[in-house]
Amino acid sequence: MKRRAFVNSSLAAAVSAALPNGVFAQAGSAVLGDINLKTLDGGSKVLEKAVLKELQASLAGRLLLPTSEGYDDARKVWNGMIDHKPAVIVQVASVSDIQNAVNIARDYRALTSIKGGGHNVAGKAMCEGGIAIDCSGMNEASCDPDTRTATAQPGVLLGAVDRATQPYGLATPAGVVSHTGAAGLTLGGGFGKLSRTYGLTADNVRGIELVTPDGEHRRATVSENRDLFWGLRGAGHNFGVATKFEYQCHEVGTDFLSGWIMYPLGSAREILTAYAELLPAIPKALQLSCNAIMMLNGKGFLTFSAFYAGSIAEGEKVLAPIRAIGKPIRDGIEVGKYLAIQSRTDRNIPWGDQYYQKAGMLTEISPKMVDMLVDITENGSPFQTAINFTQVGGVINEIDPGATAYPNRKAEMQLVFGGSWKERTDKQDDYIAAIRRSWESLLPYTDGVYINNMMGDGAEDRVRRNFNTNYDRLVELKNKYDPMNLLRLNANIKPTV
Ligand SMILES: Cc1cc2nc3c(=O)[nH]c(=O)nc-3n(C[C@H](O)[C@H](O)[C@H](O)COP(=O)(O)OP(=O)(O)OC[C@H]3O[C@@H](n4cnc5c(N)ncnc54)[C@H](O)[C@@H]3O)c2cc1C
Repeated sequence: MKRRAFVNSSLAAAVSAALPNGVFAQAGSAVLGDINLKTLDGGSKVLEKAVLKELQASLAGRLLLPTSEGYDDARKVWNGMIDHKPAVIVQVASVSDIQNAVNIARDYRALTSIKGGGHNVAGKAMCEGGIAIDCSGMNEASCDPDTRTATAQPGVLLGAVDRATQPYGLATPAGVVSHTGAAGLTLGGGFGKLSRTYGLTADNVRGIELVTPDGEHRRATVSENRDLFWGLRGAGHNFGVATKFEYQCHEVGTDFLSGWIMYPLGSAREILTAYAELLPAIPKALQLSCNAIMMLNGKGFLTFSAFYAGSIAEGEKVLAPIRAIGKPIRDGIEVGKYLAIQSRTDRNIPWGDQYYQKAGMLTEISPKMVDMLVDITENGSPFQTAINFTQVGGVINEIDPGATAYPNRKAEMQLVFGGSWKERTDKQDDYIAAIRRSWESLLPYTDGVYINNMMGDGAEDRVRRNFNTNYDRLVELKNKYDPMNLLRLNANIKPTV
C-alpha cells in the first residue's frame, strides 16, 4: 500500500477538539474494509481499508460506504430515474476534505463524480462504483452589500443565493427553480429571469476557487489563472471541484411584475405562432417564456410566463399587448416579491419524480416547427409531457462567444422537451423511446445545446460541435489541468495527451 500525505483539515481538528470523539466520525462511521473501486478505464481496483481509515480520520465531513447510515439519502439526485451507487461517498465539509478526496480519486484512477445541488437531469452528480465527492453539505451563501458581491459554497442551492442578496435589494442572475444547485448551473453558464438584462450567471462571476485534479487549491479571476477563469465559465465542470463562487450583484429591488397567462391546449397553434412572431421585438427587460403541458388525463394548457426586470409601470405597458392575445383561461400577471417568484415553479418539478428530456437552443420558431409542436399537443401520451421554451438572448448575446467558454451566444431560446412520471415503471423504455422519436423531428430546428440540460446519449459529438470555435482552447485547458480526464462525468472535453 502506498503511504499518502493527507491535507490536514483545520476544521476536522477543530471539530474533534470541540466535540468528544469527533461527531462526524461517530455519526457517519462506516464499517471499513477493503473496497473495490471502479476505475476510469472501466476496470476495478482495491481501495485498502487502511487508506480509507486515514481518509476518514482526515475529514471534517463524512465518509459513507453502501452500508453506512445516510448512504442512500446522499446518493439521491433530483431525477428519481437515476439509481447510481458509488463505492464511496465523501461528504466534504472543507477545502482540505475536497483535496483529500481528489487526491485519492486521482491516485486510484477512480471513476469520480461531484455533487453540487444534484439537479443534473442525467444524474452526473453520482457515479456508479467510483468515488462521489458530495459538496451538498457546504451550503452557505452570503452577500456583502458594499461590494455588491454574493459568495456561495459549492453545495449552495439557488434559493440560498437569492435569500442572501434580496435583503439588500440585490440579485445576481440565475435559474428559475430555487432547489437547483448553483455550482453546476454556474459552471455550465446559467440563465434565468434576469439574464436578458444582466447576462448569464457565469458572466456575473467575479471569482471561482477550485481544487484542480492535481490536488492544488487555486483561484481563478480576471487577473489570476485567467485561462482557467475563461474555461470555468461555460465548461467549468471539467477542470476541478469548485469550492467557492463570487458573484457580482445588481441593484434590482424586490418587487417585479411577473406571472403566467394560461390558455387552453386547443389554442396551441395560435399561442405558439404568436410567441414566434413576438420574439424578435421583445425588449431586453422582459423575459417571455412559453410552455405547453399535456397531463395524464388528456387535458393540458399553455402558458406565457412573463417577468419584467424594470419598473412596474413600464412592465404594464410592455405586457399590455401580450395580455390581449387570444382568450386566456387565466391572467396571473401581478406584482410579486422576487423571492416568491424565484420559487414559484419549485413544486411543479419536484425531487424524486422520473424525468427524461431533450434540449436544444434555437434562434427562431418556424411555422413548420409550430406544426410539429401542435401535433405533439394533440397526440396524447401515457405520461405527462412538457414543451418549454425559455427565452434567452438580450445581454447574453451581446457578449463575444470567445469571451468565455459558453458558446450559445446567438440563441434566442432554449427548447426543453420531455416527459415525467411519478414511479419507476417497466414501461420506462417505451416512454423514453417515444420522447426520442418526437425529439428526432425537432432536433434539426435546434442549433447547439445548453450543456447543463443534456441527457447522456450522443454526447461526445454534440459537445464538440456545441463548443464550436471554443473547443480547441478547451482541449488545451483540459490537457493542462486534467490530462487523465478524472472529471469526465460532465459535458466532457476529451484531453488529447
Ligand atoms: C428543474 C430544473 C430547473 C432548471 N432550471 C434551470 C434554469 O433556470 N437555468 C439554468 O441555467 N439551468 C437550469 N437547470 C439546469 C441546471 O443548470 C443543471 O441541472 C445544473 O447541473 C444544476 O447544478 P447542480 O449543482 O444541481 O448539479 P449536479 O447535479 O450536482 O452536478 C451537475 C454537474 O456539475 C458538476 N458539478 C457539480 N458541483 C460541482 C463543483 N463543485 N465543482 C465542479 N463541478 C461540479 C458535476 O460534476 C456534474 O457534471 C435546471 C435543471 C432542473 C432539473
